Amino acid sequence: MTTDRKIVIVGGGLVGPVCALYMSKRGYNVTLYECRSDPRECGYTRGRSINLAVSNRARKALRELGLEEDILKVSVPMRGRYLHQPNGKHVPIFYDPKNKECIYSVSRNYLNRRLLDAMGEYNNLQIKFDHKLVDAKIESGQLKFLQTKTNVTIDVRADLIIGADGAYSTMRRYMMQKPMFDYNQTYINHGYVELTITPEYGHLLAPNYLHIWPRSDFMMIALPNSDHSWTVTLFMPFKQFEQLDHRDQLMSFFNKLFPDIVPLIGEEQLVEHFFKIKPSALMYVKCSKFHTDAKSLLLGDAAHAMLPFYGQGMNAGFEDCAIFNSVLEYCNDNISMALEAYTERRRNDAHAICELALYNYVEMRDLVIRPSFRIRKFVDNI
Ligand code: FAD
Repeated sequence: MTTDRKIVIVGGGLVGPVCALYMSKRGYNVTLYECRSDPRECGYTRGRSINLAVSNRARKALRELGLEEDILKVSVPMRGRYLHQPNGKHVPIFYDPKNKECIYSVSRNYLNRRLLDAMGEYNNLQIKFDHKLVDAKIESGQLKFLQTKTNVTIDVRADLIIGADGAYSTMRRYMMQKPMFDYNQTYINHGYVELTITPEYGHLLAPNYLHIWPRSDFMMIALPNSDHSWTVTLFMPFKQFEQLDHRDQLMSFFNKLFPDIVPLIGEEQLVEHFFKIKPSALMYVKCSKFHTDAKSLLLGDAAHAMLPFYGQGMNAGFEDCAIFNSVLEYCNDNISMALEAYTERRRNDAHAICELALYNYVEMRDLVIRPSFRIRKFVDNI
């Protein structure tokens, strides 16, 4: 199908490019606007976690776009959890010992660049970096972007506007002004910091696992990178982070609770990195609908930002794109019908996965090391 209908996508993180690829494959004229500079030119991708767990939801979308093999080739399979118990014992638990299904750890940076490169293969698809959405009149499909390098604003019109501009979405702010659009944003009182184990010491951790140090009220995890380094993330209440404000406190905390990680990160690097960055906040978002005015749609974190404990934020965002594509197909590319049908199809699942992500924090930091009869009791009581 080819069409002269124009789709504007706001946000060139992970979900925006996947959506752009689906829509240009369908024959729409697509322009994606991203407020940051091209990561392939400025040399890095800012953003949250350094690496991400890719599972079946995202793989299906990548497969449909012909990118799955490329992405998995540079990813590290994680075949199970590797628990570092408080008593010093290590327990590997395979996700799927029978069929050997696993999840994959992929670099956010690589994934973002590979998706942007793939976009270059379509004539009906343009990317505009350094363009920040600053105003929207959704009912008429009018958008205003600030060109951040020149400070000039431009006006753009679209038949469909897709907001894939992340958890703090500007598009969502305009959509929320429409009747019957309910929105809920919840911060938890835990934050996170990321640390690194360099390749030199990376081989000392058992490979091909998602490592977890469950410590009841908080936890640390490590995901492998393809260069044998590991990205280590400490999730903990902000109050506890605040108490670690001197080197001595930090080191006695780590030596007491995570003694095996200290030699792998190295004391100097641990102290330097820990005090260089402030813990980041974590929140989740629920919307009662994902579309308004037969002209606008939210996908990915803009629609349903979730806590990272289920490793499904990006996965669910890619799945959004695959589902919207199939709904368009079903509705014969009648956009207004497809938007209604998409919200109906997706809302309950999006809310459910946000809840599962919240629950999985308790599972990972605590239940995973409890005997099963105590888990039953615990689950019955929540
Ligand atoms: P984003 O990646 O946030 O991209 C939004 C883009 O929009 C950005 O590039 C931004 O610059 C741009 N933008 C914003 N405002 C504007 C504007 N006004 N104009 C133009 N552009 C704009 N998910 C997983 O599936 N697996 C994991 O293992 C995993 N681990 C995680 C670990 C942590 C610590 C965190 C915090 C998240 C994790 N996630 C994981 C979730 C994942 O990071 C997100 O779900 C994913 O990044 C969402 O992609 P997105 O494209 O919707 O939003």
